[in-house]
Amino acid sequence: GCGICVKKCPFEALDIVNLPEELDQPTHRYGQNGFVLYGLPIPVEGKVTGILGPNGIGKSTAVKILSGMLVPNLGMTDAPVSWKDVLDLFQGTELFDYIQLLSQKNVKVAVKPQYIDQIPKVFSGSVRDLLATTDERGRLDYYVDRLSLRPILDRTIVNLSGGELQRVAIAACLARDADFYFLDEITPYLDVYQRMAAANLIRELAQERPVVIVEHDLAILDMLADTVHIAYGEPAVFGVITYPKGVRVGINQYLEGFLPEENVRFRDFSVAFETRAHTTEVNREELFVFPSMTKRFEQFSLVVDGGEIRSGEVLGVVGANGIGKSTFAKLLAGVLEPDTGSMDTRVRISYKPQYLKGDTEATVEEILRQTTTKFDTSFYQHEILEPLSLTQVLQAPINTLSGGELQRVAIAICLSRDADLYILDEPSAHLDVEQRVKISRLIRRHAEGRDASTLVIDHDIYVIDMISDRILVFEGEPGISGKATGPFDMAPGMNRFLAALGITFRRDKTGRPRINKPGSFLDREQMAAGEYYYAE
Ligand code: ADP
Ligand code: ADP
Ligand code: MG
Repeated sequence: GCGICVKKCPFEALDIVNLPEELDQPTHRYGQNGFVLYGLPIPVEGKVTGILGPNGIGKSTAVKILSGMLVPNLGMTDAPVSWKDVLDLFQGTELFDYIQLLSQKNVKVAVKPQYIDQIPKVFSGSVRDLLATTDERGRLDYYVDRLSLRPILDRTIVNLSGGELQRVAIAACLARDADFYFLDEITPYLDVYQRMAAANLIRELAQERPVVIVEHDLAILDMLADTVHIAYGEPAVFGVITYPKGVRVGINQYLEGFLPEENVRFRDFSVAFETRAHTTEVNREELFVFPSMTKRFEQFSLVVDGGEIRSGEVLGVVGANGIGKSTFAKLLAGVLEPDTGSMDTRVRISYKPQYLKGDTEATVEEILRQTTTKFDTSFYQHEILEPLSLTQVLQAPINTLSGGELQRVAIAICLSRDADLYILDEPSAHLDVEQRVKISRLIRRHAEGRDASTLVIDHDIYVIDMISDRILVFEGEPGISGKATGPFDMAPGMNRFLAALGITFRRDKTGRPRINKPGSFLDREQMAAGEYYYAE
């Protein structure tokens, strides 16, 4: 063997042409055959440092090391390792000063954990009680207002929605007084507007304290981070954290699937964005016409103008949280009855809800075999199971899956059924960046090959861009009223949606959309021209 092999040789797992030098020296290894981490991210004064890569690649391990909770063993699991050995290893590197502080037990870290769903299990009080314990810099009131938490301060933590809990967790982390801040994903459950608000607060904090973040929404990561470390490898086996790259370059390399400095290809296809709106194919026949409908709850009312979805088309659905997108999906799927208007009951619909239960003890394979007769075909293996990385979890009981695994199973189930209309409500939730890229491609290919229509609700602008032929825009007042308008072609639709949010995008050399700084020259110029996403 090459001496660094763990369970599987990295040479086989990845097309590594030249082994990067840092692979000679692990930073940490869990037990003799355990996960091994190479490299470390570097918190930098005055900067937001991003880590970009899949889950299970060692990000939390790196944070445990950087916060002093875990003394790195340099890959040596049988002999004890001293701080002196660790300092020797980092001698002459940018991390040396930091490691020295660590060895003196002189570092305090504030962490926003990835899985906020755990918070209600360990804390039973109100939002106010939870936040009061974190106000170490006298900034809490400011964060409460900027994250719109004031109206929910007296609610108990267990009764919060995902989006409310996420904003509480972000405020709790930022309010602390620490030497560096680590936020493991800020966007889950948040809409685009809330994502921007959180990102802006983090940028502000970074002017005073170093911040390290993990983020899978690439448009947000791009505006949030100054530099990124790419993390690659084989999840649960080994992970390599690269040296920092400029955020624009790093994200482009990630989308390309190739890291030139490291000479590593980690994906066999690349992702490109179109600078012009996709032209609608006129020859596509209209397939599915949804009727005008209304639905009223106690506090909220939804109005849907009728519209049509073409055959083979993916219709993206965008809009704020609480504006009626999921209600619309449920009306189409027949889960809810509209007050006025009615769905044609002959249309066969396959629907993936936003919130997944996953409480059965049946295995993934058993559940998938119930939804498709094609399970054993090579088509199913190559087009569904492999892109969704489900091959490894087929024997796992559904109730033991992680959020990301359950999401991928739910997507597989939805796409496995024979239907005229496929509806996916927030398929990117709980997925890491690599899986988002893969499901976008998968859902598109699935739609193109069928006389069916697909509707995808999502908050990740890049996912919406990669997936959609046209879009449906939800407007109104969150929690009070919503109205679905469209479908629009991409240019007018995206421009209309982003105009309501006051967010403009420019394009870099590769055509990738990048959020403009609010109030910058380009931002003002594009707003005046009405070019929020696409130039006409
Ligand atoms: P990430 O944060 O990128 O999702 P982690 O750093 O949490 O990844 O974990 C990387 C790998 O290390 C995983 O396969 C995980 O199971 C393993 N691992 C994490 N903590 C331990 C531990 N204390 N002992 C053994 N293995 C661990
Ligand atoms: P979105 O998917 O755009 O976030 P939803 O369609 O889930 O929005 O919800 C829109 C509004 O309707 C929210 O204010 C929500 O609280 C309310 N709502 C949704 N379902 C029900 C229901 N079954 N009973 C009462 N109110 C509901
Ligand atoms: Mg919803």
